Amino acid sequence: MARPDLHERLHDQRKLREAQGRIRTRRTVTRRDGVRLEVDGQWLTGFCSNDYLGLAQQFEVVAALQDAAAREGAGAGASHLVCGHHALHETLEREMADWLGYPRALLFGSGFAANLAVQQALLSEDNDVCVQDRLNHASLLDASRLAGCRLRRYPHLDSEGAMRQLKHAPDGAAMLVTDGVFSMDGDIAPLRSLSLVARMQQALFYVDDAHGVGVVGEHGRGCVADAGLGVNEVPLQLATLGKALGSQGAVVLGEAALIQHLAETARPYIYTTALAPAQAAAALAAVKLARRDHWRRQKLTELVALFRDGARRVGLELMPSDTPIQPLLCGDESTVMALSATLEASGFLVSAIRPPTVPEGKARLRVTLSALHTAGQVDALVEAIARARDLVLYQQSLRTASA
Ligand SMILES: *Cc1c(COP(=O)(O)O)cnc(C)c1O
Repeated sequence: MARPDLHERLHDQRKLREAQGRIRTRRTVTRRDGVRLEVDGQWLTGFCSNDYLGLAQQFEVVAALQDAAAREGAGAGASHLVCGHHALHETLEREMADWLGYPRALLFGSGFAANLAVQQALLSEDNDVCVQDRLNHASLLDASRLAGCRLRRYPHLDSEGAMRQLKHAPDGAAMLVTDGVFSMDGDIAPLRSLSLVARMQQALFYVDDAHGVGVVGEHGRGCVADAGLGVNEVPLQLATLGKALGSQGAVVLGEAALIQHLAETARPYIYTTALAPAQAAAALAAVKLARRDHWRRQKLTELVALFRDGARRVGLELMPSDTPIQPLLCGDESTVMALSATLEASGFLVSAIRPPTVPEGKARLRVTLSALHTAGQVDALVEAIARARDLVLYQQSLRTASA
């Protein structure tokens, strides 16, 4: 038996990605000032960061990080169960639990690791099942693979579909999992009806609110609280610290017994170095600001309305979303790449999102707004997108005519 040559396989896969126009490149940011980014020597106005509240460079947040690093150093030095668990981690967990109204919180180095941990620790048996929205974040789908449970997906936002999947699932333990705010769409899961489905089907309901916490609801407590739900209906939820909270890491919030179980058995929790205590100090400062500064959310709401009104005026069709994630569906991958490149040439950094991050035929520009944007910047973006669209359509018509 001849084994496949791995290098040859990689080469073929690369060729295929090239043919599909799916090569991914990284942009190197050399300097950053709020929503302004210096990329390859050019200053651009960024509409692609998840720093929705503008806390990543906020003075108190950075000062907290610097102070804690001066005292405690740059890293935790060990995992939580060895000797890396610091009082700053503990304080941050308490603050998050208090804010979101949950009994306990457990801190992870990233949301990706936290999602792996939840399913791996809870869905350990062969006929356990995880029922998920089709558009859930990649880490939630990968988590089912790591856990070794059955994965069943239902159509986006479809609670009846979730019900059907649970009804016909094997009779092991079940978990129902959804994003709160969907990261590439900006819409919000029907949490109340999903929570009823979970209750009727005796499934544990887990909500990943990476993009909702800090942003959604009057006090920024996220989609779960905004839907009038809490730990009784949603026994576990995820809040990440790297998006609206401008720092790094994530917490899983839940009933004390579930959280204790995660801390004792989740491999992505146990076998990894704890988040730097200084990062925990930064996140703690960010949470306090997110709780206090209602103006950041009010400003975001105004900017979202301004962007949507402007887009309507110039005939751009946005996807339905009330959150700072405002995608413009283009469908075709070459169109979205051309739009993004044209925008960059006019001084705006907006990310083009393509398969496999989104389904085939659903490529989009993902515009994200921040409380630090000005109304003038948002107006200028709308104008720039309209001009880029006209240019790209014109170029495409020339190509069609000459073909
Ligand atoms: C970003 C994101 C994650 C991963 O969080 P990180 O802290 O960036 O690893 C998980 N779930 C969703 C829905 C996300 O958008």
